[in-house]
Amino acid sequence: MYEEAVELAKRRGFFWPSFSIYGGFAGFYDYGPLGVLLKDNIVKIWKEAYMDDDAIFLDSPNVTPEPVFRASGHLARFSDLAAECDHCHSKFKLESVLSFNKIKYIPSSLKEAEDLVADNNLKCPVCGNIIKKVYDFNLMYRVSGDYYLRPETAQGIFVNFKLLSNYNRGKIPMIVGQQGKGYRNEISPRQSLIRLREFNQCEIEVFLDPEHLEFRELYDFKKIRMKPNTGEELNISIREAYNKGIISNQAFAYFVLKTQVILERIGISNEKLRFRQHEPDERAHYAADSWDAEGLIDDEWFEIVGIANRTDFDLKNHEQSSGEQMRIKIDGRDVMPYVIEPSYGIDRILLTLISQSMENKDGKNVLRIPYYMAPYHMAVFPLMKKDNLKERASEIYSKLKNLDKYILYDESGTIGKRYARQDEVGTPFCITVDYQTLEDNTVTLRNRDTAEQERINIDDLLHDNFIKNLLEK
Ligand code: AMP
Repeated sequence: MYEEAVELAKRRGFFWPSFSIYGGFAGFYDYGPLGVLLKDNIVKIWKEAYMDDDAIFLDSPNVTPEPVFRASGHLARFSDLAAECDHCHSKFKLESVLSFNKIKYIPSSLKEAEDLVADNNLKCPVCGNIIKKVYDFNLMYRVSGDYYLRPETAQGIFVNFKLLSNYNRGKIPMIVGQQGKGYRNEISPRQSLIRLREFNQCEIEVFLDPEHLEFRELYDFKKIRMKPNTGEELNISIREAYNKGIISNQAFAYFVLKTQVILERIGISNEKLRFRQHEPDERAHYAADSWDAEGLIDDEWFEIVGIANRTDFDLKNHEQSSGEQMRIKIDGRDVMPYVIEPSYGIDRILLTLISQSMENKDGKNVLRIPYYMAPYHMAVFPLMKKDNLKERASEIYSKLKNLDKYILYDESGTIGKRYARQDEVGTPFCITVDYQTLEDNTVTLRNRDTAEQERINIDDLLHDNFIKNLLEK
């Protein structure tokens, strides 16, 4: 349902390409009125889930001075192998040229790539000419002089480690989260929110004692889909995966499980979610092990969360480069903490959620996201604009707004059209004020998923917890 989701997103105000009146700008998207609310809901679930584990949060700048990325390795190594056609001057990720030419092997260095290009007549996917030029393309945006837009929010947390640890009174494990924008000058942005140049990340850095790579107990024994780089996909509980050594340490296992639980709560389908371990040559320069949570859209898997074992790579390098002591004292030992990082891509999660939740029945769309995720919780309609129905509906609407801000009022078009409009954007409940309302103080309450209506008393509807309870059903 990818195509349908993108069409719906633009037509109904979830997201659309930026700057379209000036011809657009590849890799940049706006969130519209409903997208802003849905994105907020995703972030809220992420944030509160980590607050359960006592996370603290940081908000650091997007613009970052060069020494930070020199130390973190991004300046030298945060690059993609790229190819350019001499004839039509199109630029590609080398991977796409290889896949167009049906070559499965992915070179891991520029030297290997150059040899591969010299030995094979690789055709340009656009004009068919032979590709000769390959190069390393750094993905960071240089703002001016020695400043860059951050390619991940994580470095803000690492450079602040000492201050954060002092704030947290040296407690370890310590979890720090940061929500914000990341920027990558992707060679070929594609598929709307999948590969953007400016995107929304929610990153978590878990600082651990390297002698105790453990966190809380693995509390959920449900099977999850895991694809280790050594073999076939497994359907296995996280505890089994850890006991069998498929996941290298208990803390890593905990945060894989946590990610599964968060994504399910957001509404990503359990059957369309798996964890895939990176091949050694696929890992980022800072990672000793990585697993991606991947969501299925139509028949393609996309990384939506990357979970990396960053070891002490970042803190050690920042200590060396800045001279700031990053070690902390644990039981008399001088310790450089280890880091596990679950990094959530909010745009991809949102796109996956919409694509997986859209259903088309008899030509009508229904967005079956969890009730509490919906941009608006309820819509209020007068059956007709006449006979005092409109006034009564407006009055109920205002009272509901005092209880819950995420309520809409709509009086335009037939009642059937109004229900359809709300179904399509996932509003779980609609209230209709009709002639019976004027007689017995009741309204109809319609459910998005069943299209069934029940009559309820307005006093019950206006009770403090009524909507809250409905949303958790
Ligand atoms: P990474 O640091 O590459 O593991 O990225 C962490 C998460 O950010 C990924 O799982 C994606 O969901 C998201 N992400 C990374 N790059 C992009 C991009 N170019 N556009 C949209 N989302 C991205």
